[in-house]
Amino acid sequence: AHNAPYCGRFAPSPTGDLHQGSLIAAVASYLDARAHHGRWLVRMEDLDVTRCMPGAADRILHLLDAWGFEWDGPVVYQNSAERQQRYAQVLQSLRDADMVYPCGCSRKEIAEVAHAGIDGPVYPGICRHGLASGREPRAWRIRTVDTPLRFIDLIQGAQTADLANEVGDFVLRRADGLFAYQLAVVVDDQDQGVTHIVRGADLLDSTPRQNYLRQLLHYRLPEYAHIPVLANAAGEKLSKQTRASALQIEQAVPAIWSALSFLGQQPPAELAQGALKPLWDWARTHWQLSRIARRRSISS
Ligand code: GLU
Repeated sequence: AHNAPYCGRFAPSPTGDLHQGSLIAAVASYLDARAHHGRWLVRMEDLDVTRCMPGAADRILHLLDAWGFEWDGPVVYQNSAERQQRYAQVLQSLRDADMVYPCGCSRKEIAEVAHAGIDGPVYPGICRHGLASGREPRAWRIRTVDTPLRFIDLIQGAQTADLANEVGDFVLRRADGLFAYQLAVVVDDQDQGVTHIVRGADLLDSTPRQNYLRQLLHYRLPEYAHIPVLANAAGEKLSKQTRASALQIEQAVPAIWSALSFLGQQPPAELAQGALKPLWDWARTHWQLSRIARRRSISS
């Protein structure tokens, strides 16, 4: 709990166009912010330049704007010189505090000895007390601890994680020099004054890592609401990787209507045929986070 005025955000990765799965996160974060008379920011998570699709960021913003989403303040780009400098500065402060260390292990070396964690192999700590001999520093890792980290998600309820055993010392700067999502998202949410994070439940497992970083950096902990992700019939998250189809500008009303329906809001059927404005008016006045299913994913 905190007293700062509500500030939410939508943080798409421009690795492709907006699809129904990402629209659901946009709708939920937007309406929850508006229901609290809060601010709502849009941040482009174009951190991993190797995965970004040219033009996607502009097309996402164009579609959000055309569909009546109104964001506050300028869009922040993670790949901007200003943000990159901030990530470097924060990483340096963690180095100064000896909370991060250089790691010279390759993926293959790790895979050979590591046990499986919740999100890939758990780094076995080979370089934790100094680079193994003959190795060049590749990535920077943060030291994790085995004390349980807990938080209460506004939708998914009580969560607990043991980072040391479930994730291991995770990477903050990758071997290719790119800053890791886990670091950037924490620094951005802090610098932008975000108080409420409404996003897909595929990121529920990342939250303890982010809260751990926040604690180390003496940042405030935001409230979290992880919404179920839209899965295909095979149960896979709808994403660019599973070739989710790009939303088209003219699909505004049916797409937003079905996002509301997915979020348990029970929009009246007649609004599915009407104009955009009455749909948003209805959605803004009827929004209730408590109607969202307490599930990690829902198949279409
Ligand atoms: N950029 C991330 C994604 O598109 C979302 C990050 C977040 O909301 O924290 O999956």
